[in-house]
Formats: sequence, C-alpha cells, structure tokens
Amino acid sequence: MPLRRSGTTWKGLCPFHGEKTPSFHVYDKGFFKCYGCGVGGDVIKFVELYDKVTFPEAVRQLRGTACNQVAGAEIAFVCGAISDPSGAVLLGVDR
Ligand SMILES: [Zn+2]
Repeated sequence: MPLRRSGTTWKGLCPFHGEKTPSFHVYDKGFFKCYGCGVGGDVIKFVELYDKVTFPEAVRQLRGTACNQVAGAEIAFVCGAISDPSGAVLLGVDR
C-alpha cells in the first residue's frame, strides 16, 4: 500500500477494499479515513482492522513493537506520520 504525500495527508490505495483510485487518507495526527468504503479511525483502529485483533491486542502491539514491525511496511507510513513532531503526542497508547 504505497502512500503518497498529498498536502498535509498521505494518500494511497485502501487496504480494506479493492480500489484503483486512492481514496485512503492518513493524516499527520495519526488518523486514517477511506472515502471509498468509509472505514476510519486512529492507528489503533488501523491495527485492529488490519491485523484483525482486538483493541487491547492492538494497543499492546503498538506499545511493544517498533512501528514498522507491527503490520509490515504499510503501517510504517502510518507510524511515520505519527512520529512526525506535529503528531507525536496524539497517539497516546502509552498513557
Ligand atoms: Zn476502503
């Protein structure tokens, strides 16, 4: 799922439904939204859906694992957006 910088957001093909035109957006604050199938949420929700785990498991994964190991290269982009200084404080999984 290659994401491309587009203004203040990242854009790419949605991993949750088949599409040819990117309608999956990742925002610097660590939130994602797909305008194709309507799925959206924060990075914890992303892990929940992507890895098909429960909320506590998703939090644990994010806490105990480097971002780029959570769900492969795809989420690295999400984490990259989150570790951006402007979004770093907003993830909040450690609080
Ligand atoms: Zn979608």
